[in-house]
Amino acid sequence: MQTAITLPVAATHTPITAATSKPYQANNLSRPGSIEKYFTWMFIKLRIFYFACIILKRPDKIISTFKTMLRLRNNVWGGDLKKMYKIDGKYYFNQYTPGWPSGAYDLLIKSELRRHASPLTVTEKLSFVFLAITRKCPMRCEHCFEWDNLNQKESFSREDLFKVVDLYQNEGVLQLHFSGGEPMVRFKDLLPLIKYASKKSECWVLTSGFNFTAHNALLLREAGCKGIVVSIDHYIAELHNMFRGNSSAFEQAVNAISNAQQARMVTSVSVCATKQFIDGNHLMPYMDFAKKLGVQFVQVLEPRSVGHYEGKNVLLDEKHIVELELTFKRINHSPAYSDYPTMLYHGYHQRRVGCFSGSRSVYVDSAGDVHACPFCHTKSYNIIELVRGIQKTLPVKENKCPLFEKIA
Ligand code: SF4
Repeated sequence: MQTAITLPVAATHTPITAATSKPYQANNLSRPGSIEKYFTWMFIKLRIFYFACIILKRPDKIISTFKTMLRLRNNVWGGDLKKMYKIDGKYYFNQYTPGWPSGAYDLLIKSELRRHASPLTVTEKLSFVFLAITRKCPMRCEHCFEWDNLNQKESFSREDLFKVVDLYQNEGVLQLHFSGGEPMVRFKDLLPLIKYASKKSECWVLTSGFNFTAHNALLLREAGCKGIVVSIDHYIAELHNMFRGNSSAFEQAVNAISNAQQARMVTSVSVCATKQFIDGNHLMPYMDFAKKLGVQFVQVLEPRSVGHYEGKNVLLDEKHIVELELTFKRINHSPAYSDYPTMLYHGYHQRRVGCFSGSRSVYVDSAGDVHACPFCHTKSYNIIELVRGIQKTLPVKENKCPLFEKIA
């Protein structure tokens, strides 16, 4: 068992780059100007209004649903988020929303309109799925939520994975995030899987950076992969490597971002904000680091007592949450930070309007067990039994987050 790492205070620490083989590369090409942003928002709002008229028909219902959706958006982003990125002809506002214009984006809007207008009768159950395609992983992360499944015999055959994609796409899933273990360990299966899945859903890869070479990035992009989320838990190389239990983790992660950017993918970094990380004033230097990397999104996760953290006192205190919320609002809305990546912090909306996990998304772990999300181990069924025909229908039981039971 690894012990928790105590991070030193380093509020003004300069990121260590010597371990990386390439310099950080800002990708400013992806940021539209203010006029383009204004007209893009106008066009999208008109499109939503058009769909609302067709689906909801009654003016009172159109107005009230519109207001509900705007309220929800403000609660998710802590205000009216204006940030957007343009990559390969599509605009991205969130790593969990398909790029626009696309059929997947339109379908998402339609399902959200139906969901808010008549929540009890909506047919769409899910909009995105995290699918852990392998148990293999070269890392040994301090917070690993797959800890008990790691490096055992694979549960999914290649055929199973294709059937799982079919099953969820038939349920209307619009976005698939492939994870693991480390999904790039299973690259030979991942590539055809994305080629297949991307015909109906937007595909992303969640990776530590392992095996994410320039060549593999191009192959993934050609197969239809739109974005990657790379786990980087510290801007100081040695501390990230310690957290991940792998001496080249930082170098691999930074190179993966650069390779994905050159392949014209959307890029995001994900950080587990531990108590020590926040107490050490590492949050803002981390945002500076992410800006230099040129990523579009930074996902800040709160540690949970699952997997390798099970039984440990890792839940954040009130003061940590206050700090995260202040940074979240500052980064996303203050003009001084308009050129910083968008910060995703799920705790903000979870504490106000509830959680989307279970209602919009599920996490299929590498053993096939289906949970509300990677950080809540709330198994409700096993997908392998379904795709192998042992069980016939998708259970209606909803996975719920044990911390935020209210579903948004
Ligand atoms: S958290 Fe992810 S990268 Fe780290 S050991 Fe677990 S599966 Fe591997």
